[in-house]
Amino acid sequence: MTERTTAADPAAPNTTKTLKVALLGAGNVGSQVARILLEDADALQARTGARLELSGIAVRNIDAPREVELPRELFTTDASALVRGADIVIELMGGLEPARTLILEAIEHGATVVSGNKALLAADGPSLYEKADAAGVQLSYEAAVAGAIPILRPIRDSLAGDKITRVLGIVNGTTNYILDQMDTTGAQFEDALADAQRLGYAEADPTADVEGHDAAAKAAILASLSFHTRFALENVHCQGISSVTAADIAAAKDAGFVIKLLAIAEKLTLVSDDGVESEAVSVRVHPTLLPREHPLAAVHGAFNAVFIEAENAGELMFYGRGAGGTPTASAVLGDVVSAARRMVLGGPGRTETTTGHVPAVGIEAVSTRYYIGVDAADQPGVLSKIAAVFTDHGVSIETMRQTVHQNGGASSAELRFVTHEASEAALAATVEAIKGLDVINSVTSVLRVEGV
Ligand code: NAP
Repeated sequence: MTERTTAADPAAPNTTKTLKVALLGAGNVGSQVARILLEDADALQARTGARLELSGIAVRNIDAPREVELPRELFTTDASALVRGADIVIELMGGLEPARTLILEAIEHGATVVSGNKALLAADGPSLYEKADAAGVQLSYEAAVAGAIPILRPIRDSLAGDKITRVLGIVNGTTNYILDQMDTTGAQFEDALADAQRLGYAEADPTADVEGHDAAAKAAILASLSFHTRFALENVHCQGISSVTAADIAAAKDAGFVIKLLAIAEKLTLVSDDGVESEAVSVRVHPTLLPREHPLAAVHGAFNAVFIEAENAGELMFYGRGAGGTPTASAVLGDVVSAARRMVLGGPGRTETTTGHVPAVGIEAVSTRYYIGVDAADQPGVLSKIAAVFTDHGVSIETMRQTVHQNGGASSAELRFVTHEASEAALAATVEAIKGLDVINSVTSVLRVEGV
């Protein structure tokens, strides 16, 4: 086995250790990480107490054009050999394989791992964390959630003495850009998406972003750290933004709300039929109406932000760039410096804790306020019929707005309701009953309201 660096001897504090850093991937993020490691080597040494030596960069194609000019001799296509000789492995390849195998190899060799791979962490995080724990090595992934924004370390370290009760995050820049465009210009979803694709904010296949899958992966990570319990992707209720219409946005705006795709992790108190209280966590991603004065409503364009409510700290908000090579490299380097400091001091130290053991609950356990859009016949008595359905199901209406549309000779009424807090079950039953009324053409939208 290759000789590897171990922790510094505290009796010889002036001895500078060299830590070998293997970089897997030199794309948007990896090439910027390599640049910073080379350009800022002295500053990084001063901050960590160790020389961070970039020992190699593994890629698929050594001759591929790169945004940053990097020494050719650092490149290799043998990622496995690079990993075996490293103290710190930075995985920035993306995808499930070979990233997973290489991370496992790094853990097996006792290397600290830094990754930005939210797709892999969502698919396999719990088993990777367990393997790292068992091997006594650190696996950190600040870049996997909200790009440049330092959010995981604040949750894990700075708030470790507090109890987080709720996390609301705008963690996908593509969908925030689309919804923001719809809100500011009145554009339809398809036009705002095309605009995002033209500007490079959205992929040619935007499914992972617009259907909420990317945000769901990040929600699972945020929930796991916030509630000291490992939550997997299947614990996350996920609904994207592709069915949000310009009419929904306009009606929300009219009522003082903005629609955002939120990743939400929230502690709930459940009460059983015999009155026994227990704690559970709801993790979900869905389009959400937020009051326009809520701090998250001011997050425009492709920016990200995470709003945290904690028992003692109260409300906190973290805001910044959620993507981009250089901003994301900042988060990666933060993890590398933190890992190097721990290695200089000796041992990985305690990082994530998983002693919470709070169960995840489905969306049916959540009570929120709802926004419901209905297309109805424009005739007397319609409103009283709908109001009776709400009353029958114990859902009370907070506000109602009506717009009448003329379609040639006929007319129809667009009705938009915001309810008081109601359970998912009561809401679902109400919507089904409204759909069954003979005066209803369709229920056009059902969205949740948060932050009030
Ligand atoms: P990228 O531009 O696609 O770069 C991927 C790099 O990995 C390329 O250099 C590629 O080599 C290399 N690679 C891929 N498969 C490989 C294989 N089988 N063997 C060897 N090398 C391989 O990706 P990125 O945008 O930098 O993202 C990297 C990671 O950071 C992803 O997990 C992503 O989710 C995460 N992240 C990215 C951002 C962002 O803004 N881009 C933000 C947050 C998190 P070649 O150069 O030879 O093709």
